[in-house]
Amino acid sequence: MEYKNFIHGEWVGAKSKEKFENRNPANWDEVVGLFPRSGSEDVDEAVASAEAAFKKWRLVPAPKRAEIIFRAGEILRKNKEEIARDMTREMGKVLQETRGDTQEGIDTAYYAAGEGRRMFGDTAPAELPNKFAMSVRQPIGVCGIISPWNFPMAIPTWKIFPALVCGNSVVFKPASDTPLTAVKFVEVLAEAGLPAGVINLVHGTGSGVGTPLIEHPKVKLISFTGSSAVGRQIASFCGKTLKRVSLELGGKNAQIVMDDANLELAVEGALWGAFGTTGQRCTATSRIILHEKIKDRFLSMFLERVGKLKLGNGLDSSVDVGPLVNKAQREQIHSYVEIGKKDGAKLVAGGRAYEEGDCKKGWFYEPTVFDEVLPKMRIAQEEIFGPVVSVLKAGNLSQAIELLNDSSYGLSSSIYTNNVNSAFAAIRDIEAGITYVNGPTIGAEVHLPFGGVKDTGNGHRESGPAVLDVFTEWKSVYVDFSGRLQKAQIDNVAIE
Ligand code: NAD
Repeated sequence: MEYKNFIHGEWVGAKSKEKFENRNPANWDEVVGLFPRSGSEDVDEAVASAEAAFKKWRLVPAPKRAEIIFRAGEILRKNKEEIARDMTREMGKVLQETRGDTQEGIDTAYYAAGEGRRMFGDTAPAELPNKFAMSVRQPIGVCGIISPWNFPMAIPTWKIFPALVCGNSVVFKPASDTPLTAVKFVEVLAEAGLPAGVINLVHGTGSGVGTPLIEHPKVKLISFTGSSAVGRQIASFCGKTLKRVSLELGGKNAQIVMDDANLELAVEGALWGAFGTTGQRCTATSRIILHEKIKDRFLSMFLERVGKLKLGNGLDSSVDVGPLVNKAQREQIHSYVEIGKKDGAKLVAGGRAYEEGDCKKGWFYEPTVFDEVLPKMRIAQEEIFGPVVSVLKAGNLSQAIELLNDSSYGLSSSIYTNNVNSAFAAIRDIEAGITYVNGPTIGAEVHLPFGGVKDTGNGHRESGPAVLDVFTEWKSVYVDFSGRLQKAQIDNVAIE
């Protein structure tokens, strides 16, 4: 099956006529589809289309724009199962999770549609008589949206629905590992009635499509989710050109388990946090920090459950853990396992590619646990982005929090405790954009801000009302109805 770019309301191939293949990571013999390998000439065309469409779209009243977003949510809901199955085929995570990924897109559609009738500004008293003061949100223009493969529906919807409801137009460059989900999403927007040119889709690589999109002078904003390495390059370009840029980057998330915690619950949470999406979540639990009093008990309970996880094709409902997304990802995970062993951590589960039975032709990797990990080891510091979790030990709450904060990243975090004082101290002192109490490091809801501190981003948030600050500019408006020149800060108004 061959798929195309979407430019000015038409499905078109790359100008070069080149294509790339997308294969199922659970069975590399299965070709999911062929997609255009686009270049800067395709980006130019998409940006021109988005720029022309922006002129009209910005003038459509926001509640009307929101009606289209709401319809897109309804269509996503209707197509949920088909989208989830295709997503599992193209990136591997289990069906339960690809359904959840699609549901997040649906939830975001309804939430963003609601903003069409809010998008509140402020009115404020003016300091001079017969003068009115207010602030309003205004769209920015053509937005370049660059997304990763691990949440191929949720992340694009977090960005694109708010961008559109705010009155912007979009050129969307999805990850080349998940182009099919991007096509399905854009089909939904077109079916919902979005005018031609308001959404444009250009497939291809980071250097082939991402770079020209970032460098295009008519693209006024870049919203990027991906690795910190690429995020830094993008930020430095946007810094030089003063282009607005929002970055959602890597994580090295930790779950603390205190000695008073419900251990069953904490084990359950750690399993889901570490091995859900095969560990390929920006919010994955990559470190478990255990109070020394419960460490041995927790670890033996945890390892027993890890040993029972079933690997396989995510379309099989009995499977817990799907494959990694591609060969390079598996090689990277294995190289980190070798680093962990060399640095002296104790491998207590996994540590190998998994090639049993039906898994011979997929990028599977055994769920892997390292014990006796020291805080400065590379496996405790660097994002691995796979099913590898490091166990560290703490003597008390403040040590545990100190270990958790000993990271250049600050996305998600979790503490399991039944002590309300410990919970609130952790909420106050943990350096992260998200903290869960008695829940794993994954599970964000779409109406709260999502993002992180430190090297996880550049201070913006997606989801919730905070995302409006990414996709709008503030305009302050003063209306003087006195009929004379009034000078702020200079005229002295007499009070009689
Ligand atoms: P990646 O940085 O390799 O790629 C992300 C996107 O950027 C892809 O579409 C890619 O084609 C594009 N790209 C790559 N190089 C580029 C360049 N030089 N210029 C422009 N675009 C370029 O990341 P990935 O492997 O797709 O995703 C995994 C990373 O994403 C992890 O680090 C993970 O933590 C992060 N992530 C973060 C969040 C978050 O919200 N904080 C969410 C999901 C994933």
